[in-house]
Amino acid sequence: MAVVKRESNSCYIHIPFCNNICTYCDFCKVLYNSNFIKKYLAKLSEEIKATYQKEALKTIYIGGGTPSSLNIEELEMLFEIISCLKKDTAYEFTIECNFDSITPEKLALFKKYGVNRLSFGIETTNPLSLQKLNRSLDLKAVRKIITSARELGFNNINVDLMYAFPFADITILKKDLDFILSLKVEHISTYSLMISPHTQFYIDDLKPISEEEDLEMYNYIHTVLTKQGYEHYEVSNFAKKGYQSKHNLTYWHNERYYGFGLGASSYINNIRSTNTMSLTNYLKGNNTKTNEEINTLDEMSYELILGLRLNTGVNLNHFKQKFGCELATVFPYQDLLKDKKIVCSHNNLMIPFEKWYIMNNILINFMR
Ligand code: SF4
Repeated sequence: MAVVKRESNSCYIHIPFCNNICTYCDFCKVLYNSNFIKKYLAKLSEEIKATYQKEALKTIYIGGGTPSSLNIEELEMLFEIISCLKKDTAYEFTIECNFDSITPEKLALFKKYGVNRLSFGIETTNPLSLQKLNRSLDLKAVRKIITSARELGFNNINVDLMYAFPFADITILKKDLDFILSLKVEHISTYSLMISPHTQFYIDDLKPISEEEDLEMYNYIHTVLTKQGYEHYEVSNFAKKGYQSKHNLTYWHNERYYGFGLGASSYINNIRSTNTMSLTNYLKGNNTKTNEEINTLDEMSYELILGLRLNTGVNLNHFKQKFGCELATVFPYQDLLKDKKIVCSHNNLMIPFEKWYIMNNILINFMR
């Protein structure tokens, strides 16, 4: 089958610098070092100029690392570099921040450069858990910053919550949720702790909590947040009406996107690629990418694996329009329907919420 060329409507920009390294972190990050930042931004600029095809972008997302770890001068440089990116009308422009490095001055700068969505890492409010995660959080400072952001006109704020710590129980999760709900943010992303290789937790041989405890917490979060009017629109994400993350929907809708910076992933035309993870190589201009060529069958598989993470699932008409064939002819799913592992409603194929917890076992059926 012929590969269809598709436009990239979104752009991810990776700022790998952090003020401290969290014990669970397996993201692409390095400790903040002012000596590297200007060089890094210069290479980032080169990469953008060499790749970007001047499409109007629906979403821009600056993630990390901790983008807010950059000082005002460095942030200005970053925004000047990315001012070459054209924005569509009704664009979404997000930047990730940590509360220990964000200030009202930085928020005002974000506003000046068109940022309209803020994403903050909270993870937990419990002092012992924070210590174990090698993170800090001053709850009064959190409230002040959220107030400043609101005063500046930011009306789209996400916070990240982490749970399933072996050193904390569900009562701590309840307190964390209470605090987060008191902030009245529009979007909440939740993460169950993964103990990944190369992290301090892995080296320390920390053992995860049981699947039953994890499921209890997952269901608890779902119950509390949906009662408070958040839609559980994706396996790990909750949003007030109209505030789903447009940027992340690009991924889940299997659309094309640019990824610039250390370790950033792109999906351009029929190539999924990931930049080098080595800061030394990136700064030398030696950005060796890992490339995966996607044929049409792969693309269909991604369409399902990503789309079925959403509560709306995959629309069968849209699938037929996009690929010119019926989904069932490529991936027979009758057995999954019979077993109620998927359901079909209004021509949308979905995994029912009760089965989200075993989603990966279901998605295997759509892998190539
Ligand atoms: S979790 Fe975030 S803040 Fe912590 S080290 Fe990783 S990227 Fe940096």
